[in-house]
Amino acid sequence: MNFEYSDKVKRLQAKISDFMDQYVFPNEKTYMEQISKENRFSTHPTIMEELKAKAKAEGLWNLFLPDSEDGAGLSNIEYAPLCELMGRSSIGPEVFNCAAPDTGNMEVLVRYGTDEHKEKWLKPLLNGEIRSCFSMTEPNVASSDATNIESSIIRDGDEYVINGTKWWSSGAGDPRCKIAIVMGKNDPNAEKHKQQSMILVPLDTPGVKIKRTLNVFGYDHAPHGHAEIEYNNVRVPASNMLLGEGRGFEIAQGRLGPGRIHHCMRTIGAAERALSILCERVQERIAFGKTLAEQGVIQEWIAEARMNIEQSRLLTLKAAYMMDTVGNKAAKTEIAMIKVVAPNVALQVIDHAIQALGAKGVSQDTPLAASWANIRTLRLADGPDEVHKRAIARQELKKYKKVAQGVQ
Ligand SMILES: Cc1cc2nc3c(=O)[nH]c(=O)nc-3n(C[C@H](O)[C@H](O)[C@H](O)COP(=O)(O)OP(=O)(O)OC[C@H]3O[C@@H](n4cnc5c(N)ncnc54)[C@H](O)[C@@H]3O)c2cc1C
Repeated sequence: MNFEYSDKVKRLQAKISDFMDQYVFPNEKTYMEQISKENRFSTHPTIMEELKAKAKAEGLWNLFLPDSEDGAGLSNIEYAPLCELMGRSSIGPEVFNCAAPDTGNMEVLVRYGTDEHKEKWLKPLLNGEIRSCFSMTEPNVASSDATNIESSIIRDGDEYVINGTKWWSSGAGDPRCKIAIVMGKNDPNAEKHKQQSMILVPLDTPGVKIKRTLNVFGYDHAPHGHAEIEYNNVRVPASNMLLGEGRGFEIAQGRLGPGRIHHCMRTIGAAERALSILCERVQERIAFGKTLAEQGVIQEWIAEARMNIEQSRLLTLKAAYMMDTVGNKAAKTEIAMIKVVAPNVALQVIDHAIQALGAKGVSQDTPLAASWANIRTLRLADGPDEVHKRAIARQELKKYKKVAQGVQ
């Protein structure tokens, strides 16, 4: 593994970094202020569209798509340091059209969409004109095990009929969200991993009802939102089926393919931002006759943060490198490891930054509180830690099983 970024990546790093400093960080407050107080999901901050237009004009657009004519053609290891920079701000990824869940959904459409799907949905997503959601999780079943998903997708003539209740469909609160990728069972009697399908459902189809949006530690994440959606006898053309009946798990593997570690990359950016906020503050704040920076305990937090961020970044890059060189399947343990490590490291760094800032740290005057709440969800939303650890432990145990069998 080569630790040096290519010239192309260095150029993009410099461009994105400048863009973040010049336009993104200074406009975070404006973005929040432009979200309507009365109906927080009805308007979209105009500043976002202005920033998107600027990023697009500078060629900083759709950088996440690895092997596509529509993206920047970057490998995972090339995209990682760029995604990290975008992750320093909660509004950063959308500015560059590199935000979840659209990135994963666009990857699905690139890989599995028909020409018609691409024209109708991929094109406007790539242009940043609409947004999308991924509707898998259900309130009534343990959704960390996707074989439990119960919604039904049943063929009826030239159509499929969809019934079920989903929640945590992120992004569906936004009026610009026009299309959902819905997961559901089309054959409960098929082999366990062949029961589920994924289908495209335009959100304006009769029978689709957004019941409410859910809060994250009190944050509504408007205008994005995490929606509970009822699908009640929703009929879509049979051609909306992705890849084919019973192939939902196959798509899930692909969906979580290149995009699998984007959250980890962004999370490292959030940790770096928290550390910089901490370092700036402790050098100017004086308590008990000296700056906070002179306190041994604060220096320990800073050292720990730097060490842990570096470790987290290296593991992310290793996972990205393996995805690029030996494929997602062979990289699955590294992917699982970084999905646990990155948010836990970032949460510790942010927590120390909050502590070092005193009461200001929990307020709305810095990005720290919102960032902690956001990243805490990744320990669930990107697959619960325990599920990843189960996979890591199983891989580890397998090694010894082989040895034991060899010995016998
Ligand atoms: C902010 C946010 C955004 C989200 N966005 C989306 C989205 O866009 N689309 C979507 O479909 N879903 C989304 N989700 C849902 C997320 O994917 C699920 O919450 C997650 O898969 C876990 O499912 P669950 O909530 O049903 O928990 P459950 O499956 O009920 O699991 C609960 C807990 O059980 C434990 N557990 C589970 N399995 C094991 C095991 N094998 N060993 C030990 N312990 C275990 C874990 O601690 C786990 O947290 C989002 C969630 C959040 C919080």
